[in-house]
Parts: sequence; C-alpha cells; structure tokens
Amino acid sequence: MPISGGCVCGKVRYESTEDKAGGGICHCDDCRKTSGTGHAAHAFFPADTITFSGEMKTYDHKSDSGNTLTRSFCPECGSSVLSQTTGMPGMTAVRVSSFDDPDRYSPMMVVYNKRAASWDKQQADIPHFDEMPPADG
Ligand SMILES: [Zn+2]
Ligand SMILES: [Zn+2]
Repeated sequence: MPISGGCVCGKVRYESTEDKAGGGICHCDDCRKTSGTGHAAHAFFPADTITFSGEMKTYDHKSDSGNTLTRSFCPECGSSVLSQTTGMPGMTAVRVSSFDDPDRYSPMMVVYNKRAASWDKQQADIPHFDEMPPADG
C-alpha cells in the first residue's frame, strides 16, 4: 500500500509510490519551532515517487550549511507538509507528522542532536549527530 498523507484540513494531500520511508529526526530551530514539540521527523522520497495536490505556501531560509531550505505548508491550516533543500536536489522531505499512518516510517538518524531539549532525547538506537552528518566524500 502506497504511503499517503496530508495536512490537518485536508486541502493538501499526497501519495507516494513507495510503501515505506526512512529519513531523519531533526532538532534544528526551524524544525522545533514549526513542530509543536522539540523536533521534526522527515521522510525522504525521490521527488518523482510522490505526487502532491492542493496549494501550498512556501518559506525559504538559509541553513547553517549554506543551503537554501524551502518549507511548504498549507495556507489554510498551517500544517508543515514538506521541505526541499538545495543540498539534496531531487529529494523531497515530507514531515512524518502529515502521514496518514506514521508507523510507515523508520528513522535512520538523529541530526542537530546538540540542540535537543533535555526533555526531548530520542530513544531509538540509531546514529546521533551533533549537527548534520559529514558529507559524502
Ligand atoms: Zn490544510
Ligand atoms: Zn531541522
């Protein structure tokens, strides 16, 4: 069964051809302040495996690594749905909070762990990085 999801009000919907997803849990300020808690969980999809419907508003900002991060959210209900970064062209990071079934996700790493709040430590036995993992090569 393909992964599906959407915003709270239902105007933004998506469906992926993938049936499970991995990605990272992020404790950066942008993720924390838009999450309602201390972190956000992102599921990574190759952009051509996921289809979105409904209009979204976007917000751009520069990440620590100098990339431009574009976060897209529903203009009606404010739910964050996805983000894209110039550092990972061709990939779409979907907020797992928007999944219809959040158990279709397995986190593979924790990033910006040094900013994690004392009450929001991740329990999963996966690699934890202070900031982003070192780039390949
Ligand atoms: Zn909405
Ligand atoms: Zn983040």
